[in-house]
Amino acid sequence: MNFSDLGLSDQLLKAIEKANYESPYPIQIQGIPAVLSGKDVLGIAPTGSGKTASYILPILQVLQKKEETIGRSVPVLVLVPTRELASQVAMVAEEFSRFLDRKVKSFAVFGGVSINPQMKKLNRTDILIATPGRLLDLLSRNALSLSNVEILVLDEMDKVLNMGFKEEVDQILSQLPKKRQNILYSATQDENIEDVIKKLLKNPVSISLQPESIGVDQINQYAYRVSPEKKGPFLRHLISSKGWSQVLVFVSSIRTADNVVGKLNKNGIEAVAFHGDKSQGARTEALSRFKSGKTKVLVATDLAARGIDIKFLPVVINYELPRSPKDYVHRIGRTGRAGAEGEAISLITEEELHHFKVIQKKMKKRVQLLNSEDLDF
Ligand code: AMP
Repeated sequence: MNFSDLGLSDQLLKAIEKANYESPYPIQIQGIPAVLSGKDVLGIAPTGSGKTASYILPILQVLQKKEETIGRSVPVLVLVPTRELASQVAMVAEEFSRFLDRKVKSFAVFGGVSINPQMKKLNRTDILIATPGRLLDLLSRNALSLSNVEILVLDEMDKVLNMGFKEEVDQILSQLPKKRQNILYSATQDENIEDVIKKLLKNPVSISLQPESIGVDQINQYAYRVSPEKKGPFLRHLISSKGWSQVLVFVSSIRTADNVVGKLNKNGIEAVAFHGDKSQGARTEALSRFKSGKTKVLVATDLAARGIDIKFLPVVINYELPRSPKDYVHRIGRTGRAGAEGEAISLITEEELHHFKVIQKKMKKRVQLLNSEDLDF
């Protein structure tokens, strides 16, 4: 299957080629025609599966044929849970719009930065990518109108709900016209999501892609037994001895993130923390330095577990396990992106052993457990 079999214009095909996408991923093979059909779409797909292009490409195809947007009445709204994902989706949309005859403007709005510059730039936006809180803020200031939205995308809806945005989303939905196309993506399908699906989607085309089928298999996973007091020295040993170009370390709390960074820095390993207690500016800076390879070690909470796309990341280390097995899959999915190989290493204490077994059972994959004491550190 080629991208040219999916009903996309030559201009889009040219941009796809420039992005070095050789052939469509399964989610794109299913998603692109589904979105183009104009029907509602339900996609159960984790990040890393290529879901962004699966909805952005057909949306651009539809927009190409439409008159240019005037004023502040957006035709396409993409709701996302986090600021990072908002920026990322906007970048993908811009990348694929570059050869289109009709200029398509994509614009991301999110909180944590001042609202005035965003208000000024909203004019003539075709694809608005927004986090719920900031969008409501903008609406309450009459900075834009949703009355002409033709396509609504809810991306990572499970995360939107987990972050407690249900009420905000309901308020936003109440401002949309009844007749529109709804596209909903979620990594999981639990009761909360079922509720939203039932209310929102009419006879959707369903696409389902389980995490196991998209790459967990190509990630080389293993774990080390280690005592709590040895975790820090062992992490430093791994980082200094393995020769990785970059490492993403996951911890379960903001405090541990700061502690681990402090210890690494003290021992001459340059590391930066990424968590919800940092300002938006600091988060953006930390992430962009890491993405560009300027920072070697990023120590993050689960804020970085989903949706964030870091190309060519060789390894993810779970310094502590996440509570949910799903988050484990999301975390390790930061490596092994876009067909590349990756490693995921978990540091397991006696106390975490049982939970780690539960994770493996849920993931339907056994992870080899090694003894850290066999390594000389
Ligand atoms: P996403 O799930 O949308 O975050 O995409 C995950 C990663 O896969 C991103 O780095 C994309 O640039 C990349 N990607 C998406 N589709 C393709 C494709 N058909 N070929 C190669 N890379 C892709």
